[in-house]
Amino acid sequence: MESILVLTHVDESGAALSKGSLEAVTAGRELAAKLGAELAIGIVAQHATKAASQLVGAAKRVFAVQGDAFAQPRFASDAAACEALWRATEPAIVLAPHSSRFARVMAAVAYRVGGAIDTHVTAIAAAENIEATRWFYRQRIESAVTRDKRPWFLLLDAGTHAAFAPSSSSEASQLEEISITAPLPAIRTEVTGIRAPKQDAVTIRPEAKLLFVAGAGWTKKQPDGQIHTDEAGHLILGFLGATGASLGSSKSLVDQGGEGHSVLPFLTHLNQIGQTGATPRHPKGLSTCCHGEEPHVVGWRFIADRRAISLDPNCGWARGKADVVYIADAFQVIGKLNELLAAKG
Ligand SMILES: Cc1cc2nc3c(=O)[nH]c(=O)nc-3n(C[C@H](O)[C@H](O)[C@H](O)COP(=O)(O)OP(=O)(O)OC[C@H]3O[C@@H](n4cnc5c(N)ncnc54)[C@H](O)[C@@H]3O)c2cc1C
Repeated sequence: MESILVLTHVDESGAALSKGSLEAVTAGRELAAKLGAELAIGIVAQHATKAASQLVGAAKRVFAVQGDAFAQPRFASDAAACEALWRATEPAIVLAPHSSRFARVMAAVAYRVGGAIDTHVTAIAAAENIEATRWFYRQRIESAVTRDKRPWFLLLDAGTHAAFAPSSSSEASQLEEISITAPLPAIRTEVTGIRAPKQDAVTIRPEAKLLFVAGAGWTKKQPDGQIHTDEAGHLILGFLGATGASLGSSKSLVDQGGEGHSVLPFLTHLNQIGQTGATPRHPKGLSTCCHGEEPHVVGWRFIADRRAISLDPNCGWARGKADVVYIADAFQVIGKLNELLAAKG
């Protein structure tokens, strides 16, 4: 028989369980009912007693790892806490909220206990097999995942289940405290405050007159047989600094960091333009080192004047998707443009 553990954590107040945690409790209870499985709940908090009072009637056994070390979200302490909670019951299925606090540790916890993990889960069905449903490509492809491997960790997206409300007719379960027997790894991280980047360090500028898009070509081998990622980064940042343009990217370029390829460190998926990215609105757009494929170009539908620089005369841009295509080396063109802009002051 499958056994289920729901891992929870407190919110910023430190006293109450986060809404996502209470949603995971509901999901755990529903799954346990479908499978006839045993359900336990684990809490990570500085003080867990008050949080546990929100779980009256939720499960027979409620565990907690608590103490000052667990007041703040931090990889070392949270991963150790979640691992200890798993080892207390060794469940086959672990449900947890896909919060920033748990998303950053749970893959490591699954790895430490020899399990598998799926993230962004929106629903869990249980008939012959347990089936976790999730979306890919921003709600374009829905997939139902089944796995034989156990333990199986499932991180649940927020808003997919009702938050659990304690029952007034049930008795509170005895809180079982788990102390971490092995010493905690050195705790080097302390949250002392939040500092947001300065406006001029932000590369996404919705009000800019120009959208500058970088494609994967910037990090590909160039005619000399070498890659020139550092030079590419320097040229792009120089251009953005001189023009105040907003920075977009193709999907290929932002994805390749995950594949261990050379990357431009200032780009994230938030810069991605296209079908599975953003569709910004700017009067002008300049694409560089990008092929201009349809899933990318569809993100340009609100850009009035479109220009592209590509080495490939047969690229998608050249086939009627840009108003002007420069068949040229973007390293040379942007280098020259930066020189002219610097001279202009
Ligand atoms: C369901 C789905 C959704 C997708 N959603 C998106 C999306 O939202 N956004 C997106 O961008 N893509 C999306 N894609 C991927 C898209 O189809 C393309 O694979 C991607 O846009 C290609 O990126 P790229 O042009 O940067 O890279 P490449 O195809 O590798 O092209 C690189 C280009 O750089 C040129 N180049 C190289 N060096 C130079 C140089 N020195 N000077 C000038 N040019 C040079 C090359 O000639 C080449 O044309 C999606 C795909 C699918 C299947």
